[in-house]
This record gives sequence, C-alpha cells and structure tokens, in this order.
Amino acid sequence: MGSVGAKEVPQLIGPDGRRIDGRQLDELRPLRIVAGALHRADGSAFVEWGANKVMAAVYGPREVHPRHLQQNNKAIVQCRYNMAAFSVDERKRPGLDRRSQEISKVIAEAFESVIFAEEYPRTSIDIYIEVLQANAGTRCAGLVAASVALADAGIPMVDLLPAVAVGKIGGQIALDLRKEEDNFGEADLPMALVPQSGRLVLLQMEGHMNREELSRSLDLGVVGCRKIYDVMKQALRDRYSVTPAAPAPSVPTEAPA
Ligand code: ADP
Repeated sequence: MGSVGAKEVPQLIGPDGRRIDGRQLDELRPLRIVAGALHRADGSAFVEWGANKVMAAVYGPREVHPRHLQQNNKAIVQCRYNMAAFSVDERKRPGLDRRSQEISKVIAEAFESVIFAEEYPRTSIDIYIEVLQANAGTRCAGLVAASVALADAGIPMVDLLPAVAVGKIGGQIALDLRKEEDNFGEADLPMALVPQSGRLVLLQMEGHMNREELSRSLDLGVVGCRKIYDVMKQALRDRYSVTPAAPAPSVPTEAPA
C-alpha cells in the first residue's frame, strides 16, 4: 500500500506487471451474457461482468408516454439507468440522481445513432437498465446489456454496441477498470463502438491523459470492444439457435415383473 496524504492508495500494478486481480493490462474481466432473461419484456439481457451484475429490459416500439414527446417522423429512444440501493457497499439512496440521469442520457443518445428510428414513427423504444451489483464500468455493462436486449426485441439497428472503459492506473494504460482502479487511478475513459464502421458513439473521460495516452487508450478500447462484440453475438446465437430435440427417454409400457 502506498499513501497520498492521509489516504491509503492500494498498489494497482504489482512488480510482475499484473493488476490487483491478476489481470494483464489488456485483459478484460470475465463476461457472461444471457439474452432473453426476462419473459415480460419485449427483449432483455442479463450481464455479469467481473463483479457487475446488470439487467436490461426493452419495451417497444410502443405508444409514447408522455404523449408530447411523440415525434411524427421517427421513434424516440428513452433510457432509464438505475442503480439498486443494494448494488454498492454503502447503501445508495434510491431514485434517479444526477449521475443516473447523465448516464441515461448518454446511453439513449448512443442508441439513437444506431437504431433505425424512422421505421417506427410516433412510437417509443424504452430501455430500462437496472444495476444490481456495481463494481465500476456499469454504464458500459448497461450499454452491452441494453444492446443485446434491443436485438432480442427485434429492434432494427446498424449494429450491436459493445462498450468498455479504458483507464490510466499506476501510470499505465489498462483495459476494463474495476472499482479500486476507477477510484484510485488517474483516468477513466468509457467508450462504445459501432464495430462494423469503427465509429465511437459514446466517449467520456474523467481524469487526465496526454494525447499519446489517449490515442493508446482508444486503440486498446477498440480491441476490447471487438472481444465483447463476440460475446454479445454468441449470447444471441445461444438464444436463437435451434438445437435438435433430444430423443424422448423410453418409458416402459408395462410394470416390471
Ligand atoms: P461506471 O459504473 O460507469 O464506472 P462511475 O465511474 O460513475 O460509473 O462509477 C464507478 C463506480 O463507483 C460504480 O460502478 C460503483 O461501483 C461506484 N458508485 C457510483 N455511484 C455510487 C454511489 N452513489 N454510491 C456508491 N458507489 C457508487
């Protein structure tokens, strides 16, 4: 443990170059995605990513509420990102705070740029993201979950949107920050990518990086997003691939003597 003033700062990169959870700098946390996890939503997905657990549900295209938001030439995309009170160490005050509102807005805008909204005028596509357990990178986990949920709902999109946060920890650029790295690192850079075109549709930054570090972070994030994209596609394949029915077990027609 190092220390800055009175605050104890954990050593984020060990002498072997590995991070506190043993990962290499360019390594993602384990990611598992289940498409279609909820029955009542039009589309849904559950994401476990490191210690993050996030559920996304999509409804629509459906009637717009409130009505005055309706647009005659396209669907509107609404998103509500919410962190459960029990999702963090110290109970979070329930309800939409400024952070949740900001995250909801940037996620809705990211999806607006890939959904073919003009195909569904006067409707709303509603995305609900519930963070059940948080360990940094929840807006990215929410984007990934919502993206699979939108595909599960059959909403036409240019592409899925993989997302990941890159950051600077202990002076090094690292992929997919966990909580301690987010808290004690020098910078945090969440991003979302349209894989086919390479276009970024979400890019935020907290902290400081120089131009060269930013450029390396973007490269590392794009590589990370492409790996996440593969897991997203596999989750949809698992949901929709038809496996041949197993032969019915034979049942004896007569009671054994
Ligand atoms: P992200 O989750 O997208 O990385 P932030 O960088 O704002 O977003 O948050 C980093 C982490 O800090 C969250 O994933 C969560 O673990 C924690 N956190 C955020 N808001 C709160 C809060 N109100 N109370 C406790 N922990 C929080």
